[in-house]
Amino acid sequence: MKVTMLGCATSTGVPIVGCNCSVCQSDNPKNKRTRSSIFIQKDDINILIDSSTDLRSQTLTNNITRINAVLYTHSHADHTHGIDDLRTFNFINRMEISCFANELTVNNIKNNFKYIFDNIPSAGGKPRLILKTVNRKFRFESVEITPIDINHANWIILGYRIGNMAYLTDCSGIPSESVKKLQNLDLLIIGALRYSPHTAHFSVEQAVEAIEMLKPKKAVLTHMGHELDYDILKKQLPKNIVPGYDGMKINVKD
Ligand SMILES: [Zn+2]
Ligand SMILES: [Zn+2]
Ligand SMILES: [Zn+2]
Repeated sequence: MKVTMLGCATSTGVPIVGCNCSVCQSDNPKNKRTRSSIFIQKDDINILIDSSTDLRSQTLTNNITRINAVLYTHSHADHTHGIDDLRTFNFINRMEISCFANELTVNNIKNNFKYIFDNIPSAGGKPRLILKTVNRKFRFESVEITPIDINHANWIILGYRIGNMAYLTDCSGIPSESVKKLQNLDLLIIGALRYSPHTAHFSVEQAVEAIEMLKPKKAVLTHMGHELDYDILKKQLPKNIVPGYDGMKINVKD
């Protein structure tokens, strides 16, 4: 299984428009972050997690020409607003795309993007998506996927485990039932917004605590804000934890 980090920024992206801070002004390409999303290739099946605001540029940059399914973590704008660009994949792949989310997210997406799901023909065209609710382990084609409940402020949203890889973005807490589903991981990708606490996201310190509790072999941080400089953060982290960067590729044993 191959995992590509398409984007690892918080909702604003980094650099933030108009910001003069050292990270936003940095020349380091690893400090240029698009909105959080990953792409998973397993058994010839291509799975996207979230359709970020930057989906079009992410798929062009990474030469992605086929998407079989989309797993949605939640309905916040940064994780969904690329949804209309899935239309291109309907054209080039000549198929509808199966999308999976929990009930809250399905309802919010249907409400936020009513035009996609209203069955009214549109001259402008619209994506053809089959949006399904998931709350327990399921299979898409040959791929076994485990939705993982996590806290995101007062919402329960989904992380996902596929094989020995798990993706938990926008996480502010991990319920104990979910901790059990996150054992023996080779790779954990987890959100870490900034150094100071936030009600809806783990800080770097809280993400590191969660990683030390779950004990994956390797962990990668994502959903990072402009407070976090790649090189500085990398030096501060324990050896098995690294900050993510856009375009990062990780192979995980099947
Ligand atoms: Zn987010
Ligand atoms: Zn900045
Ligand atoms: Zn969010």
